Amino acid sequence: MNKSLGRGSDMYALQQSVKVLVVFVLLLFVCTSSPAKAQSCGATGVAVQVLGSGGPELQDKRASTSYLIWDQGKARVIVDAGGGSALRFGESGAKMSQLDVFLFTHFHVDHSGDFPALVFSSWFGDRTRPLPIFGPSGNKIMPSNTEFVHDLFSEPRGAWRYLSGMVEPNPEGTYELQPHNVARSSTPILVFRNADLAVYAASVVHGPFPALAWRVEIGSKRIVFSGDTNGEGEGLTQLASNADLFVAHNAIPEGATGVERRLHMPPSVIGTIAANAHVKQLVLSHRMLRTLGKEDQTQAEIRLRYSGPILFANDLDCFPVK
Ligand SMILES: [Zn+2]
Repeated sequence: MNKSLGRGSDMYALQQSVKVLVVFVLLLFVCTSSPAKAQSCGATGVAVQVLGSGGPELQDKRASTSYLIWDQGKARVIVDAGGGSALRFGESGAKMSQLDVFLFTHFHVDHSGDFPALVFSSWFGDRTRPLPIFGPSGNKIMPSNTEFVHDLFSEPRGAWRYLSGMVEPNPEGTYELQPHNVARSSTPILVFRNADLAVYAASVVHGPFPALAWRVEIGSKRIVFSGDTNGEGEGLTQLASNADLFVAHNAIPEGATGVERRLHMPPSVIGTIAANAHVKQLVLSHRMLRTLGKEDQTQAEIRLRYSGPILFANDLDCFPVK
């Protein structure tokens, strides 16, 4: 009897232990699987969230270039939309209806490939106001920003012309895409302003491809994105002047030559620009197979010139702008 009671109580204790263990494992699963880190980005202030920290290579296991600026829990600005970034956009908790403006640095695929996916997702959302889209003017080898948007969506030749309603002028002032070209300027120019933010651009050198760097001023914060550039000229340094956060592209290692160097800036150039512009915080993104694993060398080259914080970006990282 005692024995059987003993076995019964042992069994009861075992069942309770198993229950506690199951609850613990479920809790652990819920905690680790929810993108809490992402959804809390910028909840109480201004923050930059990296949607894509990689370049064009898929083997880097990163989404391609894209950044969100959060302000008081709303995603207000997006810069670029490379492949994979639409999924990260969803994971971040952002909604297309929250965006004040869409900015393109240039139209390489790793900066623009997921744009149609974001646009189509917004068709199912609750956006009720136009979406201004700004990007560079074109040349022989690249479309302008307006050509890019119309080549995707407009009648009669757009690839996704079934969405042509989204680019037709809308007299009711409800949701439509409003693309504008930014005139070439080697010094910063004001491109967009509303009650809460101002956006400036400067043309940068990215080989033969028309490209822009962007500065967003929101509240008292100044955030600058280099985009892809080899760092030639003074426009980027002027644009980045006294930036609270400077996102620069770490696409090549020190010593790179040829086409790579004509398109991108090595760590020494990033460090020089960050130092001359007196930026308060430097975030390195657009990380590629040729720079991944060389972080110590990259940091050392930059540190020779720039003394502020240096951070390496990963997908969905959230950088509060202090
Ligand atoms: Zn590029």
